[in-house]
Amino acid sequence: MLELVSNWKTCPSSTSSSTSPPASPQISSVCLETLNRLMYEIQFSSFPFPMQSFFPCFVFCGTVMFYLWKPHDVWEGRWRVIPHDVLPDWLKDNDFLLHGHRPPMPSFRACFGSIFRLHTETGNIWTHLIGFFFFLVLALVYLFRPNIKFVSPIQEKVVFGVYFLGAILCLCFSWLFHTVYCHSEKVSRTFSNADGRVLALLIMGSFVPWLYYSFYCNPQPRLIYLIVICVLGILAIIVSQWDRFATPQYRMMRAVVFLALGFSGIVPTVHFTVVEGFIKAATVGQVGWLVLMAALYSTGAALYAARIPERFFPGKCDIWFQSHQIFHVLVVAAAFVHFHGVSKLQAFRYTMGGSCTADTLL
Ligand SMILES: [Zn+2]
Repeated sequence: MLELVSNWKTCPSSTSSSTSPPASPQISSVCLETLNRLMYEIQFSSFPFPMQSFFPCFVFCGTVMFYLWKPHDVWEGRWRVIPHDVLPDWLKDNDFLLHGHRPPMPSFRACFGSIFRLHTETGNIWTHLIGFFFFLVLALVYLFRPNIKFVSPIQEKVVFGVYFLGAILCLCFSWLFHTVYCHSEKVSRTFSNADGRVLALLIMGSFVPWLYYSFYCNPQPRLIYLIVICVLGILAIIVSQWDRFATPQYRMMRAVVFLALGFSGIVPTVHFTVVEGFIKAATVGQVGWLVLMAALYSTGAALYAARIPERFFPGKCDIWFQSHQIFHVLVVAAAFVHFHGVSKLQAFRYTMGGSCTADTLL
């Protein structure tokens, strides 16, 4: 930053009067570049990049909690948590969580009030509520970056916008679903179906920027892969519309459908690695981040399907550390890891400009 300021001070336009002769084109372009970088540093680089999103996110959540959270409500609501065995069938999801369930509460006000009380869904709600605000702020910060940081600003912002839309909708519907899950059978089923649909949207949205940048110089396979992932995503959405899909008996099938959708990305990844070579794919191509993302999603889905750790400690994970919470945290981490990898691909494209060589996909 200091170096940029001292560069700017040496620019003729900042030191000389308006009657001075015009600066040479080379000096002007250096000054313009310095000014652009200075503006960018001031706006976006005062903190490490993720911190810009963490700060407003925690300030917002802290403010909401300060105004809404009345400590006595946490312990002295009008309802008491109940054990698993007295729950109605439509609320019975995980029989390893023995106590701490909300009773059926056919009032949205009561459901939203329960966000600030301790029960089996508290961790599930907050993990995705915080993730939702985090991605909302991250999307605003990223999409409002100056256009000079992109090769094709409109196109690239649309591509990132699709990804952010998938992530934000997924996290939003997820915390809403966990909040109103105890309202009634109809509301629970409606939100559960919507939850499945937006998870498919998140997976589809994740592929869009990755395919866009990885196959930047080869639009034909890029288009084919995009069409294939959209068709598979729509199929997953249709399957998740089926009412029985949301029942506990189909937990394994749910995990398998979404894992299959995610792992359909293996084909373009192998294609990319074969053409570009392992070293380039792992370094410039950021495939390592893609593998880490897949590992986080699959670990989360496996723990969710097998209900680990509560399976080994029935009744001990009723409030914290149940598989569903771990799955939620891993989904947010995987979405962020993916964003990190794709934003590095975007930075690479920015340094290359719009140029391509004949033998490269990237
Ligand atoms: Zn969930």
